[in-house]
Amino acid sequence: MFRHRFLLIANPALGQINPAIHFAKRLINLCPAHVTVVTTLYMHRRITNKPTLPSLSFLAFSDGYDDGFIPTPDNDYSTYASQFKRRGSEFLTNLILSNAQQGHPFTCLLYAPLLPWAPEVAREFHIPTTMLWTQPATVLDIFYYYFHGYRDYINEKTKEDPNSCSVTLPGLPFSLSARDIPSFLLLWKPSVFDFVLPTFEKQIQDLDLEANPTVLVNTFEALETEALRAVDKFNMIPIGPLIPSAFLDGKNDPDDDGYMGGDLFQVSNDYVEWLDSKKEKSVVYVSFGSYFEVSKKQREEIAHALLDCGFPFLWVIRENEKQEEDMSFREELEKKGKMVKWCSQVEVLSHRSLGCFVTHCGWNSSLESLVSGVPMVAFPQWSDQKTNAKLIEEVWKIGVRVDNEVSEDGIVEAEEIKRGLQVVMGNGEKGEELRMNAEKLKGLAREAAKEGGPLERNLKTFLDDVGTGPT
Ligand code: UDP
Repeated sequence: MFRHRFLLIANPALGQINPAIHFAKRLINLCPAHVTVVTTLYMHRRITNKPTLPSLSFLAFSDGYDDGFIPTPDNDYSTYASQFKRRGSEFLTNLILSNAQQGHPFTCLLYAPLLPWAPEVAREFHIPTTMLWTQPATVLDIFYYYFHGYRDYINEKTKEDPNSCSVTLPGLPFSLSARDIPSFLLLWKPSVFDFVLPTFEKQIQDLDLEANPTVLVNTFEALETEALRAVDKFNMIPIGPLIPSAFLDGKNDPDDDGYMGGDLFQVSNDYVEWLDSKKEKSVVYVSFGSYFEVSKKQREEIAHALLDCGFPFLWVIRENEKQEEDMSFREELEKKGKMVKWCSQVEVLSHRSLGCFVTHCGWNSSLESLVSGVPMVAFPQWSDQKTNAKLIEEVWKIGVRVDNEVSEDGIVEAEEIKRGLQVVMGNGEKGEELRMNAEKLKGLAREAAKEGGPLERNLKTFLDDVGTGPT
């Protein structure tokens, strides 16, 4: 009955799970395929609004922290990662075996970044594997070259002169300074997440073992034309933007259950009414994604900037961010804006009242803003967000970056945030230019995702090539 049975594994983070689910739905709509999405029990339970489609299943395994992992001095992220790997590998092995025994073997494993153990398991059973890269192609290029002779060059240049160095890499039509490079790569700037670097390396080394491996990238041709071709060794196929189709073509699929993205917190959607009451392009939306915790000090700087600027704002402050020690001027904030613990971000961004997105530049947030034509105040924190901010500000020119490298404690001050807001929301030449570029990219994103367009064609090519069973 099914031509393909995909096993799709993502890390327990919405930044991987949302695009994975949108991708699964696109596969199912295109051909007789069944997709099993695997993540941890904790994440599985937290996302309460998972789509319910007959050809889509969700399975979960315990990573040993079913109430969520909180690092301690004796139990840090690297200990967690090895446990996650051990339990995940065991789970995948049993799942692959039991599906085969029941007469419906998986025909392909799709895996998100930072899970090199997953394809290792699949290969033992001769199941073809393909990586679903959930960051821009540019970031994959940077990783590739870093692990192919450019590690010392990148580190030496950026360490010597972080602000004005100019790192150039083959095939990329722009140069990078220290603040544009994924943070894990800068060895002279240690962080608690440095343990992920060998995992990234392993995943690039594994791809090296294949001849011209296909990597599915959540981007589109017009957005990253050169970056998609910067590594000869890879066959990068753009299959993005992975956004609910209702926000790309304004249509809901007849079989669609309306999944807009995972809800991590249950909230009332009274913010929609609030947005409805605002003028066109007048609202500033502030969110730092599903994971990063904004410090109290940084929240206060943001609050000052918002109050001083006077634009109405919708601000996501998640439940797990420390509410008890919150801003002394909360009352004043509530008069001018609305604060929520969560929202349906794609719906917010596509609301006619949206004028600007103050974002941490997670790749999903960046793409969601781009697809809705909303210019950004780029406020990157770490990882690929640094490169995404560079693309937003300097390459696509759809936002203003506020710089957190300047202050010693990494805090962006209110004045700097105000500067960004005033440019993006203002009537000056720069603001006009940003809005025009954002509108243009919105059109190109929709073009990429239209019926019979590049996204669909690329997926069909992938489906034809992927084969229909173990090799
Ligand atoms: N998101 C949401 N509501 C919120 C905050 C975030 O739906 O209030 C979604 C957002 O639409 C995006 C995802 O959470 O799809 C965050 O992914 P991103 O890559 O931007 O950042 P991460 O959470 O991985 O840092």
